[in-house]
Amino acid sequence: SATIIDGKAFAAGLRARIATGVTAFAAAAGRAPGLAVVLVGEDPASNVYVRSKGKATREAGMVSVEHRLPADVGAEALLALVADLNADPTIDGILVQLPLPKHIDEQAVIAAIDPDKDVDGFHPINAGRLATGSAGFVPCTPLGCVMLLKSVVPNLSGMEAVVVGRSNIVGKPMAQLLLRESCTVTVVHSRTRDVRAHVGAADIVVAAVGIPEMIKGDWLKPGATVIDVGINRTEAGLVGDVDFASAVGVAGAITPVPGGVGPMTIACLLRNTLVSAGRREGVAIDEAALDRAGA
Ligand code: NAD
Repeated sequence: SATIIDGKAFAAGLRARIATGVTAFAAAAGRAPGLAVVLVGEDPASNVYVRSKGKATREAGMVSVEHRLPADVGAEALLALVADLNADPTIDGILVQLPLPKHIDEQAVIAAIDPDKDVDGFHPINAGRLATGSAGFVPCTPLGCVMLLKSVVPNLSGMEAVVVGRSNIVGKPMAQLLLRESCTVTVVHSRTRDVRAHVGAADIVVAAVGIPEMIKGDWLKPGATVIDVGINRTEAGLVGDVDFASAVGVAGAITPVPGGVGPMTIACLLRNTLVSAGRREGVAIDEAALDRAGA
């Protein structure tokens, strides 16, 4: 039976390393790192995310600033707030909670964020930096996936990896990260002819589809490492994109849902915010030590 990759424990360790890093940063810079979160409207799920991000930010010893704007706010007012946050020297990270109401152009808002404060890593400049191998910010969920992956397979070089899903926030940056780790990467998506055949050839499977339990155990190559990004609410409770019950007997290692990738996303947001603060104030942050469990 597969090794269960404990994302909850990894995230707790990462958050502890971040808190230590925040103390050292504050001693050197004379201030704590600051993260600003902007929420437009009353979407209940977004509300929960924003609240837990604020709580985790404060628990890490950072300053959390929340801006809540009404659902009918004009694009100009939102862009003006982003401009203020860009100019604020105490703010190291800016996150605009998605999705935005339909009357606002999401891409335009993301593009207005200073790329060097874009701790979500959604700005096209940061997507370009990731693709070309220069330092920027990597989207939090795929960043967390790679950390979990490397906790069980430290050297990914030459491995066959399949990413299921091609969204801008998970699938595409995940594929770039695996490429950076020298995997041979295949991205499959809704138009792929034979998803199962690709999955069956992979040493590493990252599932980011949003279809409950789509990937079955008998699709997998025995011993494969499976990272399940899916968070699907069903009558049976929270399930991933992988059928855990059948996959756990075939995979070599697998993330559970919940308790796998989920807890890593906010931890990586805090990590990116600390890294941003270090870069902006010229305080050295050992990123490799932060990202490695047990470091
Ligand atoms: P998305 O809807 O933007 O993208 C889904 C992708 O799956 C698309 O690229 C599509 O082409 C592909 N797809 C759809 N049907 C397919 C099929 N039959 N076969 C192969 N590919 C198919 O979703 P997303 O934002 O990338 O999120 C994916 C999942 O991950 C969701 O369950 C979401 O809730 C979850 N998620 C979790 C976290 C986290 O853990 N913190 C963060 C983001 C997303």
